[in-house]
Amino acid sequence: IPACECNSCYGGPHCSEFSPDGCPLDVDLGDPLFLEPFWMQHSKSSAVVVAGWHRMSYSDGIGSSILFSKELTNHIFQLHALVGNAITKGRFILFGVGSSQLLHAAVHALSQQGSSHPACVVATAPFYPLYEFQTELFDSEDFKFQGDTTLWKNTSSANSSTNIIEFVTSPNNPDGRLTKPVLQGPSVKTIHDHAYYWPHFTAIQGPADEDLMLFTLSKVTGHGGSRFGWALIKDKDLYQRMLMYLSLNTIGVSQDTQLRALKILKVVLKGGGEIFEFGYNTMKARWERLNEILSASRRFSIQKLEPQYCNYFQNVTGPSPAYAWLKCEREEDLDCHAVLKAASIIGRKGNLFRAESRYVRLSLIKYEDDFDLLLHRIKVLVSKEEGSK
Ligand code: PMP
Repeated sequence: IPACECNSCYGGPHCSEFSPDGCPLDVDLGDPLFLEPFWMQHSKSSAVVVAGWHRMSYSDGIGSSILFSKELTNHIFQLHALVGNAITKGRFILFGVGSSQLLHAAVHALSQQGSSHPACVVATAPFYPLYEFQTELFDSEDFKFQGDTTLWKNTSSANSSTNIIEFVTSPNNPDGRLTKPVLQGPSVKTIHDHAYYWPHFTAIQGPADEDLMLFTLSKVTGHGGSRFGWALIKDKDLYQRMLMYLSLNTIGVSQDTQLRALKILKVVLKGGGEIFEFGYNTMKARWERLNEILSASRRFSIQKLEPQYCNYFQNVTGPSPAYAWLKCEREEDLDCHAVLKAASIIGRKGNLFRAESRYVRLSLIKYEDDFDLLLHRIKVLVSKEEGSK
């Protein structure tokens, strides 16, 4: 193949040589591959072998159409007890195909509980785009996406009969801040998305004790591909409505996934939190390196996060967020995504999070090589700034 036909990532004879310069760097996806080295060190103990006859059935044979492994539930409860990030006592648990499925199961179930229809689904910008995209995709008479909470904050709607469903993400995707609900009132229901409430990404302030909490294996162990999340639910009626949704939607979570999740959690628990040491040290080091480079820049800034006391490490820790929420400061850099793209950095556009287009989210949780290349490219951009050191 002549060299000119190689794509921008490869060159040399037969396009066989990887040439990072100019090759687009994808830091869009929130894929927690930073944990892969941990799992390589635990290759053998985390491997799963499933015999062909094992767990073939849809059901548990005793009347439940969805088989939720009790052993897996116990291990999830032990994980929360180890980290101290959620109360599990007296809670119902549901498994989902990633927490993505549970997000919508929750919207569906909560919209059935209020008196008024449609329920207004809201979140505080910048917020995780899936809340909006899913709600619109599953277009229903029961709920409508209504944008940012600030539109509702100063109206009497939160106290009226309008049924409101607020998504609260803590720590927040994209900016890593610990957040609280903005709206309160008898007609407001809250979905607490704690996908990132693990010691890798934030100081653990104490066990979350909300009525409806969502977690995902993707961000705690890095196994996004297994598609496994769980919901902790206080109210039995809500639990049953969500269960009904899951039964009709996917008839539960793959048994193979549940077996893998169990094996993975066994290794995490046996290690007594070793994964959190690894995860936190990796993320903290990445944040510090990025900050050091950007401290020389007047063109780009990232969110300011303060160190906080972490109950899990029993020390002041962080920051160690999953994403950089980068802002292009120059007047003319209105489209920050395009500015970075010109430097072969592909982030996620700020306007997807309902923020200004001068913001871009950069994933810091991918492989070390991706992160190193990201730093290299940002360094080059910063060095081109007028008056830079
Ligand atoms: N909530 C938040 C805030 C997320 O960032 C993500 C994944 N990026 C999810 C939920 C969904 O994760 P999953 O479906 O992999 O469990």
